[in-house]
Amino acid sequence: MCEPFPCPECGAMQMVFTVEDYRTEDGLTVPHLRHLKCNACNERFFDDEAMHCIQAERDRLHWWAKPQTARFEPTLPD
Ligand SMILES: [Zn+2]
Repeated sequence: MCEPFPCPECGAMQMVFTVEDYRTEDGLTVPHLRHLKCNACNERFFDDEAMHCIQAERDRLHWWAKPQTARFEPTLPD
C-alpha cells in the first residue's frame, strides 16, 4: 500500500504513518507507537501492527491488572 491513504473519518487523502507517543482512553501511554494519523482531522487509526504494540505494552505493564474502575463499582443488591 502507498501513502497517503484516504481518511475513513473525513475522506481527506491525508492519512500517513506517524510515530508518536500515544495515550489510550484508559490512560496507558505507548511510547513511539507507529500508527496512522489523519493530518486533516487528527483522527488516529491503528493497523494490526499498532494494535499488537498496544497489546504488548499492556502485557508488559500488566495494565489489565490495575483495578482502575474498582472504586466505581456499585454494590449490587442481592
Ligand atoms: Zn481525517
